[in-house]
Amino acid sequence: MKEDVEFIYEQVDKHHDWFSKSIPMIASENIISPMARELLISDFHDRYAEGAPGARYYQGNIYVDRVEIRTEELAKKLFDAKYADVRPISGTVANMAVLMAFGGPDKKITSVDVSSGAHISSAHFGAVGLRGMSPITYPFDLDEMNIDVDGTRKMILKEKPDIALFGQSVFLFPTPIKELEDALQEAGSHVWYDAAHVLGLIAGGEFQDPLREGVEVITGSTHKTLPGPQHGILLANPRDEESREKLFWSVFPGVLSNHHLHAMAALGVTLAEHMEFGKEYARQVIKNAQALGQAMYERGFDVMCPDKGFTESHTLAIDVRKYGGGGTAVENMEKANMISNKNLMPWDDVDSALNPSGIRLGSQELTRLGMKESHMVEVAELIKRVVVDRESPEKVKDDVVEFRKDFKGVHYCYKEGMPAHERFTFL
Ligand SMILES: *Cc1c(COP(=O)(O)O)cnc(C)c1O
Repeated sequence: MKEDVEFIYEQVDKHHDWFSKSIPMIASENIISPMARELLISDFHDRYAEGAPGARYYQGNIYVDRVEIRTEELAKKLFDAKYADVRPISGTVANMAVLMAFGGPDKKITSVDVSSGAHISSAHFGAVGLRGMSPITYPFDLDEMNIDVDGTRKMILKEKPDIALFGQSVFLFPTPIKELEDALQEAGSHVWYDAAHVLGLIAGGEFQDPLREGVEVITGSTHKTLPGPQHGILLANPRDEESREKLFWSVFPGVLSNHHLHAMAALGVTLAEHMEFGKEYARQVIKNAQALGQAMYERGFDVMCPDKGFTESHTLAIDVRKYGGGGTAVENMEKANMISNKNLMPWDDVDSALNPSGIRLGSQELTRLGMKESHMVEVAELIKRVVVDRESPEKVKDDVVEFRKDFKGVHYCYKEGMPAHERFTFL
């Protein structure tokens, strides 16, 4: 019915208005550039392109093929990878493809524990379980907020996993994979790095370089620190032809029928923009996260890892038990137009997911909006007024709206002479 359409449009308009007046800090989100956004409403959205360029199951893909080939080339170049697949429609779908390629009920997989920051797709109740496996989890060092190298080395040599998976959704510091390289080689594992959160930092050369550290395959979402469309990617230096073939066929027909052509094209633009602006952006993301961590620490927050500079990524993990827990904190912040999420901390039980000890903050979207270190101090003060001082969120909200007025538009992307930029004025 027409009223329903009106209702939906009205809600989306309200959402746009709300977010344009908010401080967005969810570590898995970002804003796409106007040039990439434009492609999401292109006719590519309406088409099918099963298979690979030059070997499709439908006609009509002449230009789609050219875009897919170019996007794949850009991905290989940006990550210096021998192999790239730009078809997975999300990070989880890319993960399912790797699990299909190398996993199975008779196979062994090791991973970070969910409460230590791993993603649900690496749990027995997620995609790993779908493949009939249950992960053996690495020992985790709370002070370092990272896997314990010695314990993990011993565990890998003992278990000899078919797949050794690394990477988290609370990803503060690079994983010490290089230090495990010899053990992983001895175990004969397929080494897999889930870069969903840190893909844009890796592409900017500012985090770690997994493919040079003994990793065979990288998966990722393309909409977290990589500021692209909701989509996924798979990158690899396959160890042999069999590996390459398995990865190829696992994406299609393994876990995909059609892929999302509009998002794939938008990913191509994002990768091209990242080649030009990625390094500068990634540097500022990390500087902003560290500045926000410092400012919050100075205001009494138990920001994790103060001795290590809080973070080397876009993410901060903050223990807010003394302020009533993560659930309470983020709900009050939301009332003040500060958007973030509650998060499990390594000592939390997975069952406490509804009111865990922590909150997780990301600096990547604030960076895209043009914020620098001095603005992080202002953000920290606004958060403190709600969470520590218990000021009325409605009152703080007025100041958030005022603060946000200085930050319109998207940075670190093409602008001048680009028609799309004029169309999306709400950005
Ligand atoms: C976000 C995330 C994913 C899944 O990404 P989607 O694109 O939402 O499917 C996978 N792994 C990790 C570590 C993540 O943080």
